[in-house]
Amino acid sequence: MTPDVLPHEKLDRAVIFLGPPGAGKGTQAKELARKFSAPHLSTGDMLREHVAQGTSLGQRAQPIMARGELVPDSIVLRMVADRIDRPDCSHGFVFDGFPRTVAQAQWLGELLKQHGFKPPLVVHFVIDPGLLLRRITGRRTCKVGGEIYNLYDRPPKFDARCDNDGGELEQRLDDREEIVGPRLAAYERQTAPLAAYYRRLGRLRDVDASKSVEEVAARVVEIVREAR
Ligand SMILES: [Zn+2]
Repeated sequence: MTPDVLPHEKLDRAVIFLGPPGAGKGTQAKELARKFSAPHLSTGDMLREHVAQGTSLGQRAQPIMARGELVPDSIVLRMVADRIDRPDCSHGFVFDGFPRTVAQAQWLGELLKQHGFKPPLVVHFVIDPGLLLRRITGRRTCKVGGEIYNLYDRPPKFDARCDNDGGELEQRLDDREEIVGPRLAAYERQTAPLAAYYRRLGRLRDVDASKSVEEVAARVVEIVREAR
């Protein structure tokens, strides 16, 4: 059961979602933002918006993105600072995929303080790596209707065919173990220092991401309500 969020309840801070790809972080970040009527901020979306609108930041970022390179902090941080200045962020907001490094986190902490926000809260998705790998590599999508199955958790009744329309089930290229395995390992390497940083500050809250989407959503709301 997901606890209801009352209309007057506000986040009044940045809630940061930290979790490996495939653990449901994006879904939960969007859901929390929806419940609290707060903006869901992703630097990827921000970049695409700046490029589409042809802002000066967008013009600087575009060739870098076109080369498939990582956009430098000088651009990303400016973009984030501009974004949280907008009025829709005045009662708090949700970050999905930012910050990625301790340096970014330190910078963000200062920025939030300057803007008078409460200290950030970091929702940290914790899940057994073997279980996560199974969740991702077991995923299959119906070619006809797009229904999603999982060979381990939600298998189709008949071998490799959709229950609804008999459509062929396929695995996304990104869900294959040779792609996912290295991505998860890279995530661990990059994120461990960031998680440790926020844990030291007492801002990190672990969430058991092996639970159902509803249970995780309920836990996230509890965490937000308990936060000081
Ligand atoms: Zn189907």
